[in-house]
Amino acid sequence: MRDMSSHEVNQQLARGLARALEQHVTIAARGFVTATGDQFFIVNSASHNGTQYLVAAVGSRLVCSCPAGEHDLICKHVALVRALLVAERMVV
Ligand SMILES: [Zn+2]
Repeated sequence: MRDMSSHEVNQQLARGLARALEQHVTIAARGFVTATGDQFFIVNSASHNGTQYLVAAVGSRLVCSCPAGEHDLICKHVALVRALLVAERMVV
């Protein structure tokens, strides 16, 4: 990921989450990679045409298989998964 200030990252995450909610992006499935214990998520794309992307937690980073994610941009899929993880940590 390219260097960004935390302010810039937070803005991109907020925009990504807003887009994910507006466009009804949903999480289809989640699980753990057996070999590493890393968490992963299968996320339905905003196009609702059956396209799904893989969001994987690698250490404290989330990486997405969508075109934006492959360019190291903070996409709506990563923003949605991150919001879920943050929410879960708050209630546990
Ligand atoms: Zn993505």
